[in-house]
Amino acid sequence: MTLVQLVQAIYLISAVLFILSLAGLSQQTSARRGSIAGMIGMALALIATVILSLSESERTPIVTLLLIAMALGIGAIVGTWRARTIEMTQMPEMIAMLHSFVGIAAVLVGFNSFITEPPATVHLIEVFLGILIGAVTFTGSIIAYLKLSAKISSKPLTLPGRNWLNLGALVVSALLLVWFLISASFIPLVLMTVIALALGLHLVAAIGGGDMPVVVSMLNSYSGWAAAAAGFMLGNNLLIVTGALVGASGAILSYIMCKAMNRSFMSVILGGFGQESGAVASSEAADMGEYHEILAPEVAELLKEAKSIIIAPGYGMAVAKAQYSVADLVSKLRADGKEVRFAVHPVAGRLPGHMNVLLAEAKVPYDIVLELDEINADFAKTDVVIVIGANDTVNPAAEDDPNSPIAGMPVLKVWEAKRVIVNKRSMASGYAGVQNPLFFKDNTSMLFGDSKEAIDKVIAAL
Ligand code: NDP
Repeated sequence: MTLVQLVQAIYLISAVLFILSLAGLSQQTSARRGSIAGMIGMALALIATVILSLSESERTPIVTLLLIAMALGIGAIVGTWRARTIEMTQMPEMIAMLHSFVGIAAVLVGFNSFITEPPATVHLIEVFLGILIGAVTFTGSIIAYLKLSAKISSKPLTLPGRNWLNLGALVVSALLLVWFLISASFIPLVLMTVIALALGLHLVAAIGGGDMPVVVSMLNSYSGWAAAAAGFMLGNNLLIVTGALVGASGAILSYIMCKAMNRSFMSVILGGFGQESGAVASSEAADMGEYHEILAPEVAELLKEAKSIIIAPGYGMAVAKAQYSVADLVSKLRADGKEVRFAVHPVAGRLPGHMNVLLAEAKVPYDIVLELDEINADFAKTDVVIVIGANDTVNPAAEDDPNSPIAGMPVLKVWEAKRVIVNKRSMASGYAGVQNPLFFKDNTSMLFGDSKEAIDKVIAAL
């Protein structure tokens, strides 16, 4: 077996491990196994790539090895530091940032490959497309990072003729491709790169706050295709397979989330999503009337009398790290013979599966954690619902107010229960920035305070 064959064989094993990893990650019970498969696959891939570059490099092996070790060392130090310090609630912005690295890597690989490889037509197309996708991913991800970390406003940017601008950028890029294939020169390549950078920026800037979750998974998909394109340029089969896996799974995830939010998939892929013109937050201005406040001891009384209870957690539970207190409360109530379940909205929190991860961390049994469509019909038969730091995901305006920015998004129908307790710190709005009529309903009472403290008080009162 030659060295190249050995490397290809290791790549194949890595590819299989990556597929097993994705399969494992699709279920909580097998997620740990999935992660481990992914780690082994990535370690093997790195080893094989190092072996290959040592054999192909014209430098003395020790210099190549030192260069690789330096890059790996810096990456490992920064990566470990970020992974250890990042809060769970900052994950989406971190993921967006990582996608931007994939994007810029594809751009750099593209230019490098153009300079070093002979200009065969197929190769020129690979270079052009790789840089195009990479540049869109790069600036798109940076804007997503800035929006998610609230460093810039999450309001959609609405330029006149927005869709025409995007279409124009694509048409001009297609013409530049023709020029590039004829001349194989830098000018069309650089022009296209500038246009693609602007396109990525514009695509994501045009997307409004409430719709950002889909953007994260969409950029995930773009970054996968950028990696696959880099794989073609480098002639690296594993990179092609991995990129395609990420690209396809990101697209499937985007599709699932679009369905969960009742948006059209195509409008997201093309960008400029979630900003039907004139969709002003009509509910925001309206006077919603009075709200009722409730204190922990009264909540405890209500819970003692209740037979069936549903907990709807949201972003606030994550911020307050209240999942352990919530799990405590639930086990007490269950020990008293009450039926307690969780209702998890598909975009509750700040990344897909956020609530599931937190509840699993607090050792809440999986079988009482239900998805929106599994539990939405049950609210009407429920005595008490406790909403913990959730807001947009339980907003009836999504159903009642066609002008609401979240109109049409499926929501947990918590208001159908006999009593609703909403725990949050104030009357402030949620991520989408709209007021919530739920808080003003007759059967709703507000339990103000940080989720962890509030739930601890309820436990003490019980
Ligand atoms: P929301 O952002 O709608 O609301 C969370 C609420 O939690 C806030 O209104 C806030 O109110 C409250 N809160 C914040 N901190 C605390 C605390 N320490 N203790 C108690 N309450 C607290 O969250 P939801 O989970 O209901 O909805 C998710 C939203 O985020 C959706 O709009 C979704 O589209 C969007 N999104 C989702 C992503 C995903 O992939 N899941 C990614 C990005 C965005 P107050 O300040 O009064 O305490």
